[in-house]
Amino acid sequence: DHLRHVGSLSTLSSGAGKIPHLNAIVLGEGLASEENDLVFPSQEFSSQALVSSPAQYLEMYRKSILDPSGFWSEIASQFYWEKKWPQQQQVYTENLDVRNGDIKIEWFKGGMTNICYNALDRNIEAGNGDKIAMYWEGNELNQDGSLTYTQLLHQVCQLANYLKDIGVSKGDAVVIYLPMLMELPIAMLACARIGAIHSVVFAGFSADSLSQRIVDCKPKAVITCNAVRRGSKVIHLKEIVDAALVDSAKNGFSVGVVLNYANESAMKRESTKWTDGRDIWWQDTVPKYPTTCAVEWVDAEDPLFLLYTSGSTGKPKGVLHTTGGYMIYTATTFKYAFDYKSSDIYWCTADCGWITGHSYVTYGPLLNGATVVVFEGAPNYPNASRCWDIVDKYKVSLFYTAPTLVRSLMRDGDEFVTRYSRKSLRVLGSVGEPINPSAWRWFFNVVGDSRCPISDTWWQTETGGFMITPLPGAWPQKPGSATFPFFGVLPVIVDEKGTEIDGECSGYLCVKNSWPGAFRTLYGDHDRYETTYFKPFPGYYFTGDGCRRDKDGYHWLTGRVDDVINVSGHRIGTAEVESALVSHPQCAEAAVVGVEHEVKGQGIYAFVTLVDGVPYSEELRKSLTLAVRKQIGAFAAPDKIHWAPGLPKTRSGKIMRRILRKIASRQLDELGDTSTLADPSVVDQLIALSDQ
Ligand code: ATP
Ligand code: MG
Repeated sequence: DHLRHVGSLSTLSSGAGKIPHLNAIVLGEGLASEENDLVFPSQEFSSQALVSSPAQYLEMYRKSILDPSGFWSEIASQFYWEKKWPQQQQVYTENLDVRNGDIKIEWFKGGMTNICYNALDRNIEAGNGDKIAMYWEGNELNQDGSLTYTQLLHQVCQLANYLKDIGVSKGDAVVIYLPMLMELPIAMLACARIGAIHSVVFAGFSADSLSQRIVDCKPKAVITCNAVRRGSKVIHLKEIVDAALVDSAKNGFSVGVVLNYANESAMKRESTKWTDGRDIWWQDTVPKYPTTCAVEWVDAEDPLFLLYTSGSTGKPKGVLHTTGGYMIYTATTFKYAFDYKSSDIYWCTADCGWITGHSYVTYGPLLNGATVVVFEGAPNYPNASRCWDIVDKYKVSLFYTAPTLVRSLMRDGDEFVTRYSRKSLRVLGSVGEPINPSAWRWFFNVVGDSRCPISDTWWQTETGGFMITPLPGAWPQKPGSATFPFFGVLPVIVDEKGTEIDGECSGYLCVKNSWPGAFRTLYGDHDRYETTYFKPFPGYYFTGDGCRRDKDGYHWLTGRVDDVINVSGHRIGTAEVESALVSHPQCAEAAVVGVEHEVKGQGIYAFVTLVDGVPYSEELRKSLTLAVRKQIGAFAAPDKIHWAPGLPKTRSGKIMRRILRKIASRQLDELGDTSTLADPSVVDQLIALSDQ
C-alpha cells in the first residue's frame, strides 16, 4: 500500500511525478510569485541550518519513507545499546489494520537500552559533564538554580537508589505529582534508570483526578512536594495528595510511600500535615544515597511511561509509550524541528505534566545534550514581560510555547516585549492548538523581530513526538500552517468513507504507517485503543483532527473533527472562523461552536474575549462579523456572538469546545466532565452573560 507514495516519490526525484504534499517543496522558490503569504527564511539562517533547502528535506524524507528500517537504524546506532536489536531487514513490526487482527506496533524489539543512560551518562562520557543540563527559574524573580550534566546524573542516581531501596523495581509504576522544580525531570529520569514506569500527573489536578490515576496504575510510591507558588497563589499539593490517597484507599488501592520534597519557599515544613510511616521528606533521605546507580537495561519495547491526554474531548486516555522508539523519535524530532546546535539554550514553557514536557522539556533535549530552562512560575507573573526577562537572562535561543500564551501576550501589548533585547532568539515554536495567522505574525514580527522561523509543531500525546512541522530554514513558511510531515511520517487526508483524497483537499487527518514514537496501547484497555484510533478508518491511525491541504501542499489543521460545523452544506473548521475573529484588533480570543439552526442545519455561535478595557457594543458585534465575512465568506458569519470574559480551557491551555457547545445550546445540565478545566468558574460567568 505504501507503493503509491513510494512510486510517486521516486518519480519525484527525477522531477516529473507528483505527491500532493511535496509539490510545494519541489516547486521551491517558484512558489513565491503566486503566494503572498509566504515567509522566507533568511539566507543567513538557511545556510547554517541542519536542513537548509527543500531539496535536502526531500532527499531525507524520501529515504525515511522508502527505507524506514535503514533510516531509523542509522539514527538509532548513534545511541548506546547494551545489546543491539536483532539484525533483521525490518526493525519494526506493525499492523495498523483492524481487519488483519490486533493492532500492534513495535520498533527495535529485542534491543536492550536505557533512556536515562542515553540522556545523561552518554553525554557525560562524550565530554559534556560540566555543561549545564538545566537552568531552573523559580516563580519569583530572584529564585534560580542550575545543574550540570554530572550533577544531574548524581541527583538522578540518588533518587533511583532510594526508589530501589523502598522496593520499586523494573515494571513498577510511580506516580509523580510535582510542580516545575528540577526534581520533576529528576524523578522521571530516576524511574527510567531503574526501569520503573512513571506516570506524571499535572500538579494542578484535583484530588479526584489524581486518585483515579492512582487507582488505574497502582504505583509503589507517589512523589510530590508540600506546596508550590504559582503566580501569587500558594497551592498545597500534599493536601491534595492526602485527599487523593484517602479516596484511592476507598477504591481498593493504598499507596505505601509518599516522598515529599520540602518546597520551603512556598510552605514551611513544620506546617505540613504528616502521616508517619508513609510520608518521607526527600531532603532528609535521598541525599544519603550513593551518587552512582547501575542502569537497568530494558527492552526497546518495555514501557517507559504512562500519561493521560489533556481531556479536551472528554475522559482522558491513558497513553502508553515504550522506550527505544520513543527515545530515537523525541531526540530526532527535537534536533531537526528546532535546528538544534550544541550552543543553544532551549526553553519550553510546557509543564512536565503534559506530553510536551515529557518529550520536549525532558527527553528530547537531554538526549541531544542540550541546556534546558525549567520554569516553575506563570508566564505572566509578575507581569507580561516575564518570558522576555527569562529569555534575556539565560540567553534563550530556542523558545517553544503555546498559542494561548501568544494570544494573551499579544493582548497585553508590544511594550512588554520590545523593552527586552531578545537578541539570543533563533527559533520559535508553537504547540497545542492551531496558531491563528494573526498571532503567528505577532510572534514572528514582534517577539522574533522578523528574524526567527516559527516551528508550528502538530502532534499529540499519542504520537510521542512531532508529526507535521516546519524544519526551520528548509522552506518558506505560511503563517498558521504546520507545513509538511516529519521524516518517516505519511499523513493522509481521507473523506467520510475513509478514501484517501489528494491534491487540494480537506478532510480527516490519518497516518498510514507506524513511526518509532507512536503509542503502543491505552493502558489496560487495548480495545479502547483500537476502537478510538484504528476502527474509524480501517487501515489507518485516525488522529481525530481535521486538516486541509492547500494547492502548494501545505497542511493546515482545522480543529477537531468533532467540532466541525456544517452550515448549509459548507463544512467549516473551528480554526478558520476563530482566526478571522482573532485578526480583529479588539478581539483577544475566540472559540466557535455549532448550534442547531432551523434553516441552515447548523449555525455558528462564537464566544469572543475582547482586549482588556474594550466595552461590549452592538457596533463591535457587527464589525467582528464583518471580519469573518471578509476573510472567509458570508456563509461563515457567526449567527451569534457571545461575550466571554474568559474561555473554558484545559489545564494545558486548550479551549474546550465541548462545554461551549452545551452552553450555546442551553443544555446546562449536560456540561459533562469539567474536572480537567483550569478555571471552572469561567463556565458560570459565561452562563450569566448568555443574554447580553
Ligand atoms: P483529548 O485527546 O483527551 O481530547 P487532547 O487531544 O487535547 O486531549 P493532547 O494530546 O495534549 O490532548 O493534544 C493533541 C491535540 O492538540 C491534537 O490532536 C490537536 O487537536 C491539537 N494540536 C496540537 N498541536 C497542534 C498544532 N500545532 N496545530 C494544531 N493543532 C494542534
Ligand atoms: Mg486528543
